[in-house]
Amino acid sequence: MKVFENFGLSHTLLETIKKLGFDKPTEIQEQSIPYIMEGKDVIGESATGSGKTLAFGCGIVDKVFPKKGLQALILTPTRELAEQVKDSLKQLAKNKNLNIISIYGGVSIGNQIDMLPKSEVVIATPGRLLDHLQRKTINLSQVKLVVLDEADRMFDMGFIEDVEKIIRACPSKRQTLFFSATISPRIINLSRKYMVHPVKVFAKNMVDPTKLKQVYYQVLKNLKLSLLTHLLNNEKSGLVMVFCNTRINTDFVAKNLKANDIDAIPIHGGLSQNKRTYTMGLFNKEKVGVLVCTDVASRGLHVENVSHIYNYEIPKDPKDYVHRIGRTARAGHEGKVVNLLSDNDYGSFSNILSEYRMFKIERMKNIDFKRISPVKQGRERGRNERSSSNFSENRSRFGQKKRFSHKRR
Ligand code: AMP
Repeated sequence: MKVFENFGLSHTLLETIKKLGFDKPTEIQEQSIPYIMEGKDVIGESATGSGKTLAFGCGIVDKVFPKKGLQALILTPTRELAEQVKDSLKQLAKNKNLNIISIYGGVSIGNQIDMLPKSEVVIATPGRLLDHLQRKTINLSQVKLVVLDEADRMFDMGFIEDVEKIIRACPSKRQTLFFSATISPRIINLSRKYMVHPVKVFAKNMVDPTKLKQVYYQVLKNLKLSLLTHLLNNEKSGLVMVFCNTRINTDFVAKNLKANDIDAIPIHGGLSQNKRTYTMGLFNKEKVGVLVCTDVASRGLHVENVSHIYNYEIPKDPKDYVHRIGRTARAGHEGKVVNLLSDNDYGSFSNILSEYRMFKIERMKNIDFKRISPVKQGRERGRNERSSSNFSENRSRFGQKKRFSHKRR
C-alpha cells in the first residue's frame, strides 16, 4: 500500500491533504497520481466517489502558478459537478494563492467575463465555455492541463462535439487527463485524437455489491405514490434519493411526499441554477432527507450517507440504472435499491436484467399500504385514509452518524 508521500507531491500539498484528513490514497489516486505528476496523459476508469477529483487536483495544484494566466481547464457535464469540483480544488489549493472559478450556463455571463482574466484554474460545462470562446472572453493560450471529467457522460449528454472544439482550441503542448466511469471504445477513440501515449488506470467501483441489496415491487401505476409513501415512512434509512424519468413526475412526486409530511425536495434541469445549488446544499448538509431527482440533475454528484435509492420509474437506459445505484453502498456502508414497477417499467427493467446479468434483484411480495389521493393544484395535503405512523421514532439500520426522520417537523 502506497502513501501520498510516495507520489512526488510538494510539501505544502502533502500538508493540505493531511489536514483534510486523507491518510491513505484511494485506488484511483494510487494508480494515477504518479503518472499525473510525471506529466503523462492519463485515462482513468473510476466512478464518482472514487477520489478522482483529488487525483487530478494534485496535478493541478502542484503544476499551476499564481498570476500566470489560465493554466488548467476542467470540463464537467453538469453545473453541479462543476461547483463540486471547484469546491474540492479550492480546499486542496488552500495554501496556494490560486484563483479557481467555475463557469456554466443558467447564470449571468457578466461576472464570469470579469473573473476569467484573473483565473488560473477554470472548471466549466462545455456550452458556456464555448460561448466564452466565441465571444473571445477566455484566453486558452496558456492552458497546459486539460481534464475531462465524467467523459462518458459528455457523450451520453450530446456534449462531445463541443468538448472536441474546446480541446482543439487549447495548445497542443499540454497534458490531457480523461476520467470516466467506463473506458468504452468511444473514449478510446477520443483519446486517439487528443492524447499522446496515454496511460490507462483502473479503480474498482466504490460500490460494494455485497453491501447492496436490490429489490422490486410490482404495483399498479395509480398506487405507486401510495406505496412509495408507505415505504419511506416504514423503511429505516439515512438519506434517500427517489429517481423519476421526467421533470413533471419529479415535481409531482416531491409535491405529494411533502403533502404527506415527508421531508422531500425536487431537483431537475428545469429549475434555475441557484435553486439547484441551494437544493443540493440542503441535501448534502442533511437538512432534507429525501431528494426527488432526474438523472441529469444528479449525475456525477457525490453525496455521502445515501442509504436508499428508490426508482419511482425505471430508467430507459440501463447505464442510468447503474449510475443511480452507484450512489449508495459506498465506502463500506450498506445500501438498498427499491424498484417500483408498473406496466410501463417492465421493458426497461428487463433490459437492465439482460444487460447486467450479475445483478440479483429480489422480488418483494405484495404488502398492505394505505392509499393516498394525489395532491391536486392548490391543495396543501393529500387525503389519507388514516394518519401515517411516526417515522421519527424509527432508527437507522445502517448505523449512520446522523439518523433521519423524513417527516417534516
Ligand atoms: P470523487 O467524486 O471521485 O472525487 O470523490 C470524492 C469523495 O472522496 C469526497 O467525499 C472526498 O472527500 C473523498 N476522498 C477523496 N480522497 C480520499 C482519500 N484519500 N481517502 C478518503 N476519502 C477520500
